Amino acid sequence: SLMRVFKFGGASVKSADAVKNVAKVLREYGDGPLVVVVSAMGKMTNKMEELADAYYYEKKTKTNILEEVKSFHQNIIQELKIDEYDYYEVENLLIELECMIEKKRDVSSPFDMEYDRIVPFGELISTKIISIYLNKIGYINRWIDARNFVITTEKNRAANVLWDECVPLINNSLKPLANKQTIITQGFIGRGLNHKNTTLGREGSDYTAAIFAFALDAESVTIWKDVSGVMNADPRKFEDATLIPLLSYNEAIELAYYGASVIHPKTIQPLKNKKIPLYVKSFVDPTLSGTEVRENDSRTLNETQCYIVKENQSVV
Ligand code: ASP
Ligand code: MG
Repeated sequence: SLMRVFKFGGASVKSADAVKNVAKVLREYGDGPLVVVVSAMGKMTNKMEELADAYYYEKKTKTNILEEVKSFHQNIIQELKIDEYDYYEVENLLIELECMIEKKRDVSSPFDMEYDRIVPFGELISTKIISIYLNKIGYINRWIDARNFVITTEKNRAANVLWDECVPLINNSLKPLANKQTIITQGFIGRGLNHKNTTLGREGSDYTAAIFAFALDAESVTIWKDVSGVMNADPRKFEDATLIPLLSYNEAIELAYYGASVIHPKTIQPLKNKKIPLYVKSFVDPTLSGTEVRENDSRTLNETQCYIVKENQSVV
């Protein structure tokens, strides 16, 4: 299959300029059948978590937080010069969110369930804005609700994928669409068999990309980051951090396990099972080769020391 999966995280879509850069990356690198998985914009998931908390505990701040969420997205839309007509679908989502927040909460509903009702709006709004913008500038795409395809257990905030449900759904219903048009969809969010929202855990969008790739038998997954690839240390903490050009799946799992915050830990296994290569590339400078994760016998990690700082501990 020539299908590819791209994932763009929050940092890659944190502003109007960032969204324009995503468009540039897609125009240059996004040829052929493509599923694009996108996170909430910037730090919006943190904001949505604050909103869920204020809603649940009936805090006075809830209106202010909602206003922040609205104005953050409205500012980006304005900068992207999407006209009012194009913009109504985003406005509808914001209204839907507002209605949800204004209602008194159902006291029988546990926090985690309310969280999964509210926080996914970050991804839903983000992908709507991006899809509309891309269509407007001529990068034709189709917005898809990931909750119709990422079917999960009902465990809120830490749902597990139900592969037997997802794989045929994605294959039968999404693949034909993806063969015709680039798909723009959300990371992180899913739906239980009870039709209620679920989420895959913080930073779960990488995992979403792997789920789609697995089900579609994709040719590759590319995670676009603000760093040049997987480094042997956090470049913000170690000046002389260097890039690791090639990792085996097992090495990538090890790195994720020890807390290198580059790839979400659950992401690698489905890719490993189908031998789908994973590229970690820079959206700042896509000409850099980045890191490739694939089946590989020779260990590179033995020769490269990795420095991972985790909760006051260092694993070397
Ligand atoms: N937006 C979610 C988060 O920030 C998922 C992700 O970015 O991967 O945790
Ligand atoms: Mg995020």
